[in-house]
Amino acid sequence: MGNYFKDLWSGISTVLIGMKVTFVHLFQPNITIQYPKVKKEMYPRTRARLVNYMPECGFCQSCARVCPIGIIEMKGVRGEPEDNMGFFKDGKPRKIHMVEFKIDFAKCLYCGLCVDACDTESLHWEAPQEATMDNREALLIDFSTYTPEEIARLYAREEEKKKAKAAATATAGTAPATPKPVAPKPPAEPPAEATPPAPPEIIPPKPEPANGESA
Ligand code: SF4
Ligand code: SF4
Repeated sequence: MGNYFKDLWSGISTVLIGMKVTFVHLFQPNITIQYPKVKKEMYPRTRARLVNYMPECGFCQSCARVCPIGIIEMKGVRGEPEDNMGFFKDGKPRKIHMVEFKIDFAKCLYCGLCVDACDTESLHWEAPQEATMDNREALLIDFSTYTPEEIARLYAREEEKKKAKAAATATAGTAPATPKPVAPKPPAEPPAEATPPAPPEIIPPKPEPANGESA
């Protein structure tokens, strides 16, 4: 009987202690949020998602070279003057069409070396609350803003340029060589004047001996 009342008191006191803790928290500010209706702001230096702001990316490839696992791939096509590609924020003209800039986030170490190597700060961290994907393929992200049609057109133009260059080189190789101008030779020295032959020696005839004289 004594144990019965002892256990009864133990149960009632435990409930009262729990209710006291609950009652005290009724008058304190909340320490939880109603996620996902309410979202907390991430810390500014959170490495949640890498983003490349393409208008400031200059195809220098520093990020790709420094990445320890080589997961940054990029392709560019040289622009032509008529493309009117605009300028970077530092005033330099854009010269390359960035037709591809891929990062495979399924392999990324989030080391941040690529961000440190990017002089233009086009590659940077963003901190969304939910940097998640529902399939692995979606983690291979291409930041290029070119449409497939634009990319096809640029590659076709590049191909045309290569063909024209190859044809020009071939034509230059088969054309007859232009004869080199030959400097005129100086006139030959006039032959030395021949010595005129000596006149024949005239020998006077011997006088005839007189009659009676021996020779
Ligand atoms: S954070 Fe590191 S691993 Fe990821 S892309 Fe940049 S350099 Fe490569
Ligand atoms: S380092 Fe920066 S500017 Fe250079 S290719 Fe990478 S993202 Fe672009």
